[in-house]
Amino acid sequence: MSRRPTPHVLILGGTTEARRLAADLAARPGLRVTTSLAGRVTRPGTLAGEVRTGGFGGPEGLADWLRERRVDALVDATHPFAERMTSNAAQAAAVTGTPAVFLRRPGWRAGPGDDWHPVASLTGAAGLLPHLGDRVFLTTGRLGLAAFAHLSALHFLVRSVEPPEPPRPPDIRVLTARGPFTVADETALLREHRIDVLVTKDSGGAATAAKLTAARDLALPVVVVRRPPLPDGVWAEPDVRAVLERLGRLGRLEGLGLTGP
Ligand code: NAP
Repeated sequence: MSRRPTPHVLILGGTTEARRLAADLAARPGLRVTTSLAGRVTRPGTLAGEVRTGGFGGPEGLADWLRERRVDALVDATHPFAERMTSNAAQAAAVTGTPAVFLRRPGWRAGPGDDWHPVASLTGAAGLLPHLGDRVFLTTGRLGLAAFAHLSALHFLVRSVEPPEPPRPPDIRVLTARGPFTVADETALLREHRIDVLVTKDSGGAATAAKLTAARDLALPVVVVRRPPLPDGVWAEPDVRAVLERLGRLGRLEGLGLTGP
């Protein structure tokens, strides 16, 4: 009689939530957990469970991986702006019949005193900037700087985890740092660099929200890049607890006591 393999969960990672989910699942006996990382960050830190790094080769490559590694459940815990990976995950889950949960932390909401300017894309943000100020704090990640490269009349303070590469705007100061950041530090940074306007993606979450409070306190405008939509028909949950509960209701994972931390 052949033994059933250990249930296997694949987490598409790159976020704090993915790390927390891996830690929770890896601590459960009788469960195999693999986190997949894109490999963009040189020192991603330690992760509980197994780790694989690098692209799968599109939706077909991911589908092959799910079949070959006998994955019982897929969790897309990528960043809300990792649109391609999320689309690939939805397609691969559908063609292989793998149950999939999409972890999407809630987006940020403007409150009283906020001066937010929502835009659909980095290009939209670049179009708005010359109307809002001369000194820009750009926190949209190092890979989207090309959209701002033509804005030679503006000064950019850019903060990213890894140093950005060209194309990038000519008048630029780079800070490499990883959150979380405090409101006091963000306020001091905005003052020190005499920032007129902040640009951010609507990433959501607490780790990088302090800049929004600091901008509000200093009455600075904020250009907010809206999130891309989730693929049609996918199941989204807002946090790790909800993902664990949903996983716990899947046939192969029932009985493992998966409930939130
Ligand atoms: P993307 O544009 O959606 O993905 C581009 C390609 O990178 C995907 O098609 C896939 O290659 C590969 N990839 C992405 N995430 C992967 C993962 N977790 N495991 C294996 N391959 C992955 O993604 P991105 O915006 O470049 O983001 C890359 C990673 O950084 C994501 O994991 C995301 O969670 C994290 N991140 C992104 C942002 C952001 O603002 N976009 C911010 C913070 C963290 P194949 O098609 O070959 O499989």
